[in-house]
Amino acid sequence: MLDSSAIVSFAYLDHAATTPMLPEAIEAMTAQMATVGNASSLHTSGRLGRRVVEESREAIAQAMGARPSEVLFTSGGTESDNLAIKGTFWARKDADPRRVRLLVSTVEHHAVLDCVDFLVAHEGAKVTWLEVDQVGRVHPDTVRAAIGTDPETVALVSVMWANNEVGTVQPIAKIAALCHEFAIPMHSDAVQAVGQVVVDFAASGLDLLSISGHKIGGPQGVGALLARRDATLVPLTHGGGQERQVRSGSLDVPAIRGFAVAMRHATANLASGAQRLTALRDRLIVGAQDAGYGVQVSGDWEAGDGTTRLPGNAHLLVPGCDGDSLLYLLDAAGVQCSTGSACQAGVPQPSHVLLAMGMSEHTARGALRLTLGHTSTSADIDAFLAALPAAVERAQRAQVATSARQAIPAKTH
Ligand code: PLP
Repeated sequence: MLDSSAIVSFAYLDHAATTPMLPEAIEAMTAQMATVGNASSLHTSGRLGRRVVEESREAIAQAMGARPSEVLFTSGGTESDNLAIKGTFWARKDADPRRVRLLVSTVEHHAVLDCVDFLVAHEGAKVTWLEVDQVGRVHPDTVRAAIGTDPETVALVSVMWANNEVGTVQPIAKIAALCHEFAIPMHSDAVQAVGQVVVDFAASGLDLLSISGHKIGGPQGVGALLARRDATLVPLTHGGGQERQVRSGSLDVPAIRGFAVAMRHATANLASGAQRLTALRDRLIVGAQDAGYGVQVSGDWEAGDGTTRLPGNAHLLVPGCDGDSLLYLLDAAGVQCSTGSACQAGVPQPSHVLLAMGMSEHTARGALRLTLGHTSTSADIDAFLAALPAAVERAQRAQVATSARQAIPAKTH
């Protein structure tokens, strides 16, 4: 069993996975947990719960440049992506059976990729994967070419606002404008972008946008889909129809309140927070490059710039190492980070994002994602840079030993 008390203090560099809750959000949420009331009940307690939900909806709408009626509460980013993609696909196909095409970037989170795969496997969807350049960016011309000569067959375009592995920010407003030329709805997964770069729903021109509570200092298990009033969605769940008849289930009032408080805080302090994180991120990247192991940064990095790459994202490639080995060695030294890619059945897989950016499987295996957030300090960077040399040297030795073992021909019996 893991004994967390054994680790007295550690540097947490995995804010893209989840970031600690803000004290203000914890306070608001726990206060709400001490009350009773289903927001759909008609009595006084129910109405008080409803008021909290509607005030939270207004706060989130205001922070996101949306109207309150455009905010649909969900259980998080994954559900928001599913509702946006499956809901729009089914609604658009119902209205016109020719609309079966989905245009989706190759670097999306699995919450989007796996929805698309499901619709292709079971619902007759056809997908055009939008290729990215070497830094992971989708170019509007790629989208125009994919729309091609039959825009009336496209159900939806989906391109994430910012990538969760390498932090690349996409030209969302340009792609949305292009989609509008052809009257095609567009969705963007902005789960990683909110609180780090300016996200304004109305100004973006998007029809649908996914957000999540636990990436901005709110609780886990709550999020929202921003959906224009004219966006048609087929519900995924059926029941009470609590959210615009599109999403059913009793609302989690305390979580929604904590989410709204975190949202207000994250967007109000965006400029100063982004500048602080950009400086920390740059120190981390430069320090790792200067350590002398040939470390490279992936994605779009320009020191001092927090608009084309997320301010809190550093993504490193360490030659001759396996990212998972590095992760465990750094963890043992009190530095918590991620490789950015997923395991399938316990087997580490090279990241689909890095492969889409044109990297070889070999290079992609040395990936390490370090992500910063509101609790990050200079001391976290110091701890990482201090732990890096020993971790790299051990991981490289382990890699050499593994390669040597693999080179020995298998015994024949
Ligand atoms: N989309 C992106 C880009 C993410 O990074 C994540 C979580 O890591 C999700 C969606 C899923 O969000 P949630 O954990 O709220 O379901």
